Amino acid sequence: MSQSAASAPHSPSSLFDQVRFVLNETSHPGNVGSAARAIKTMGFGRLVLAAPRAGADVLRDPEAIALASGADDVLANTLIVPDLVAALQGVSWAVALSARSREYGPPNAEPRESAAIAVQHAGQGEAVAFVFGSERTGLSNADVDRCNALVHIPANPVYSSLNLSQAVQLIAWEMRMACLAQARGDAPQVVTVATPLADAASHDALATRDDVEGMLTHLERALVELDFLDPDNPKKLMTRLRRLFAKSHLEREEVNILRGISKHILERKVRR
Ligand code: SAH
Repeated sequence: MSQSAASAPHSPSSLFDQVRFVLNETSHPGNVGSAARAIKTMGFGRLVLAAPRAGADVLRDPEAIALASGADDVLANTLIVPDLVAALQGVSWAVALSARSREYGPPNAEPRESAAIAVQHAGQGEAVAFVFGSERTGLSNADVDRCNALVHIPANPVYSSLNLSQAVQLIAWEMRMACLAQARGDAPQVVTVATPLADAASHDALATRDDVEGMLTHLERALVELDFLDPDNPKKLMTRLRRLFAKSHLEREEVNILRGISKHILERKVRR
């Protein structure tokens, strides 16, 4: 049977390499070590810390090293970046993990469904990320809005907040199962959460999260220039636009069109 490029089997290692686990503003060095161990047991190796509370020293913290156990190689290779935008550089599909449900934000997905979608993106050679919040406050709404989907692990409804590294472990397990299924060529094709991948063979290069961030900053400036957006009273406009773009899953070419529109608005204003 012939297979399309989109459904051809991939080697597990190439898929596993496309997956980043991002811990945002983590406080406890022990959780960083445990997360390194959690992802290594599932075959992954890319851990990224965005603005860790303990600073870059967290990787040398005795508690982190002790809890990483045999995953000290993952710990040593952990990337430290100043914020979530930097952590998502080059990522085209990002999933926010939240212990709480949210009124606004990107479309919701189940953990298994999010892994199935992520592996489809990884199979196209795109980088994907799972983003976890801090122990005390979780992810801010602004951080959730930087992602394409929001996932809640459906735990005990009256006690649903998992330890950070245990949440990482569950998602890494779901991703392992999804990567192994994809490598065998029998991954489910997911068509929910506004994914365009039902027709993956025809899709152009997807915009990365940083492409979308740059476009939104540009668009925001243009909307202010048009007096459509009042910077002193922005209401939920940018949040709603983020959600709209998260659902439409922009391609790079589409981001360029939107940037072109903003550029022309700003230039016309200058000429006047
Ligand atoms: N007190 C925080 C929860 C922190 S738990 C709050 O109220 O939001 C630390 C992180 O682990 C969370 O930000 C989330 O990324 C992940 N996590 C914990 N439990 C989760 C669950 N049930 N579903 C999805 N993610 C969860």
